[in-house]
Amino acid sequence: MNNISGRVALVTGGSRGIGAATVARLAQEGADVAFTYNQSADRAQEVVERVKAAGRRALAIQADSASADAVSSSVAQTVAEFGRLDILVNNAGTAAFGHITELSMADFEHVMNVNVRAAFVASQAAAAHLDTGGRIITIGSCAATRVTGQGYVLYSMSKTALIGLTKGLARDLGPRGITANLVHPGPIDTEMNPADSPVADENRSHVALGTYGEATDVAATVAYLAGESGRYVTGAEIAIDGGYVA
Ligand code: NDP
Repeated sequence: MNNISGRVALVTGGSRGIGAATVARLAQEGADVAFTYNQSADRAQEVVERVKAAGRRALAIQADSASADAVSSSVAQTVAEFGRLDILVNNAGTAAFGHITELSMADFEHVMNVNVRAAFVASQAAAAHLDTGGRIITIGSCAATRVTGQGYVLYSMSKTALIGLTKGLARDLGPRGITANLVHPGPIDTEMNPADSPVADENRSHVALGTYGEATDVAATVAYLAGESGRYVTGAEIAIDGGYVA
């Protein structure tokens, strides 16, 4: 019994991939789930239907994580709709791969705003509503701790910043009984990183298990952290990466 029945979750970037799998899993475990999306309105509606099929309430919010106002507003909308917030999952992320000599300030600002500032803003806004037992779960990357080639500098830097965010949140919110944790996926078969892309074999070569993971593998760990099972885990980094950093 994971005890998230009746709790309210907000997942950023829930229209596709790891976010969509997480929304579905939290709903299966009994939570009402709000989620943001940016461009994929049709896909978001499909996710809403999955939540409803699980017998839970759903709310899809169009909110570009590049906008701090949109991010904080998505927290307010969730609380206005469901009356509370118990679980925040900072999942929305973007990748701008490029060599240090080629990246622009626009690349820097976009990646840092979506991958870092949005997680900070959402966590700050959520902290005003979370009560004892509250959860902040952020999706990092195995690239935060292991960079296997060129072109990752901006993405890996943005994901490493989430380690500091998570440890700081754990300290700031621990006295209130709220946990904060970071989940580092390895190569997961999504539209961001398809298992049949030109770089997939290179990615697989770094994985101890030799295969890509599925979005549901990450969602299962988020559900573990979100529930009673995660009550004594905070400030932690958990790799769901098939041994990518082993
Ligand atoms: P996908 O590209 O498959 O899905 C991304 C999701 O985030 C979509 O729902 C998308 O919504 C949303 N999103 C993207 N940009 C924004 C934005 N600016 N504002 C709001 N929502 C946005 O990615 P994954 O599921 O693969 O990745 C999810 C997280 O996992 C990311 O943080 C990523 O960095 C991390 N990760 C993924 C790995 C992988 O191998 N797949 C490995 C390591 C980490 P929409 O389509 O509506 O714009």
